[in-house]
Amino acid sequence: VTGGAPHRVVVIGGGFGGLFALRVLRRAPVEVTVVDRTNHHLFQPLLYQVATGILSAGEIAPPIRDVVRHQPRTTVVLGAVTAIDLSARTVTAHQGDSPHTLPYDSLIVAAGSETSYFGHDQLSRWAPGMKSIDDALELRGRIFGAFEMAEAESDERRRGEWLTFAVVGGGPTGVEMAGQIVELSQRSLHHNFRNFDPRSTRVVLFDGGTSILPTFGPRLAAKTRRDLERLGIEVHLDTLVTDIDDRGVDVRFGDGSTRRFAARTKIWAAGVQASPLGKTLAEQSGANLDKTGRVRVLPDCSLPGHPEVFVVGDLMVLDDLPGVAEVAMQSGAHAARVIVRRRAKGGDGPGPPLRYRDLGSMATIARFKGVAKIGRIEIAGFVGWVAWLVVHLTFLTGFKNRVSALGHWTVSFLGRSRSERTITEQQIVARLAIEAQEDAGRAV
Ligand SMILES: Cc1cc2nc3c(=O)[nH]c(=O)nc-3n(C[C@H](O)[C@H](O)[C@H](O)COP(=O)(O)OP(=O)(O)OC[C@H]3O[C@@H](n4cnc5c(N)ncnc54)[C@H](O)[C@@H]3O)c2cc1C
Repeated sequence: VTGGAPHRVVVIGGGFGGLFALRVLRRAPVEVTVVDRTNHHLFQPLLYQVATGILSAGEIAPPIRDVVRHQPRTTVVLGAVTAIDLSARTVTAHQGDSPHTLPYDSLIVAAGSETSYFGHDQLSRWAPGMKSIDDALELRGRIFGAFEMAEAESDERRRGEWLTFAVVGGGPTGVEMAGQIVELSQRSLHHNFRNFDPRSTRVVLFDGGTSILPTFGPRLAAKTRRDLERLGIEVHLDTLVTDIDDRGVDVRFGDGSTRRFAARTKIWAAGVQASPLGKTLAEQSGANLDKTGRVRVLPDCSLPGHPEVFVVGDLMVLDDLPGVAEVAMQSGAHAARVIVRRRAKGGDGPGPPLRYRDLGSMATIARFKGVAKIGRIEIAGFVGWVAWLVVHLTFLTGFKNRVSALGHWTVSFLGRSRSERTITEQQIVARLAIEAQEDAGRAV
């Protein structure tokens, strides 16, 4: 940029990567525009608690505008990015029907990933994923709605279908969802129904691999499986889900045999694919994509041949780093530091390589039971759960949200109740709209 015009940085995505980039840019002499298709930053690791009535949506999804309210040089644009033009250096975002063109001098693409149904997107109708507040509220409506349907049902077999919950995917999200549905039925819903005992709820967990939580190592994986089974969860490993419909799930076991599980509520926690913006970047720059559509970046997180463009978080491939929040935070902050450094020193030479510090991973199985792997240290049980609690409280955005989440956790974990059990028309209306659209599509 010449003539003293301010350096314009556009950040696509206000998730973990985007947010940590914005923090570094807070005091830099640059003009920042962050564009996101939602109005909030989302703490995805706690989505399952919104889906099971522990936390409210607002506690894990503060408005991006509010997060950057003390950054006068940062503008927030609510819009879905539909195009990036690397040669013109512009980003096009759509707000409703109107396109909005945002020119940039530096670009940070932190658009993350989306749920993957491995080419079978029709399954989403019966088995919502867990990637957004809408997903979590939809699941909350379905989960609490299923207990209502069970209360209204007089036929034992059909009631059993309403009281069976199928979780697809044995990573942290699947494990946490399965554990929470059990806690809900065993503790929170006690004495709430007259025609059945919620403790008769059945939770079935499927995974195509040979272990749950494979990234936690064999010891913690085996321990978690034992804990889940002790809670009454049926764990089926080496099992591929072949179809899902309104009444159940078809699976194929490792030995080739098949079986149908009748279950009205299905949850998809099985896979993610990168944002389609990765493909746009690769087509224009020649960068490589991995099989989930993530962009291979240079060691400083920049796009090959385009030192002014950075790809961070779930959308980037670098040194086999996993798609986790910590990688997104550190890569987002790193890209922003490279931009600040170049402003101070001039030029657009390569920045220092990202040196990732692995702070470990953790998951909860149920109340007071968690697992954590920090380097070589493996922690399980109550201590693992406390580690989970401390880390999640620390990283929740906003002091008010932390205080209020702690209050909700006290109510749910020390007591029995869950305060966020509202079922709204919104989810039902959205579902009917999708079904109507699909029916119209079929009729054409
Ligand atoms: C249910 C669940 C549980 C998880 N649990 C853990 C955990 O326990 N620990 C852990 O470390 N990680 C966990 N993760 C992974 C972690 O959340 C991700 O690695 C992290 O969010 C990636 O950050 P990101 O900034 O790359 O993307 P995201 O946080 O996904 O942010 C992407 C942002 O970009 C926006 N966006 C996307 N496309 C567009 C577009 N075209 N236009 C405008 N805006 C767009 C989105 O709205 C979003 O705000 C979990 C993920 C999920 C889904």
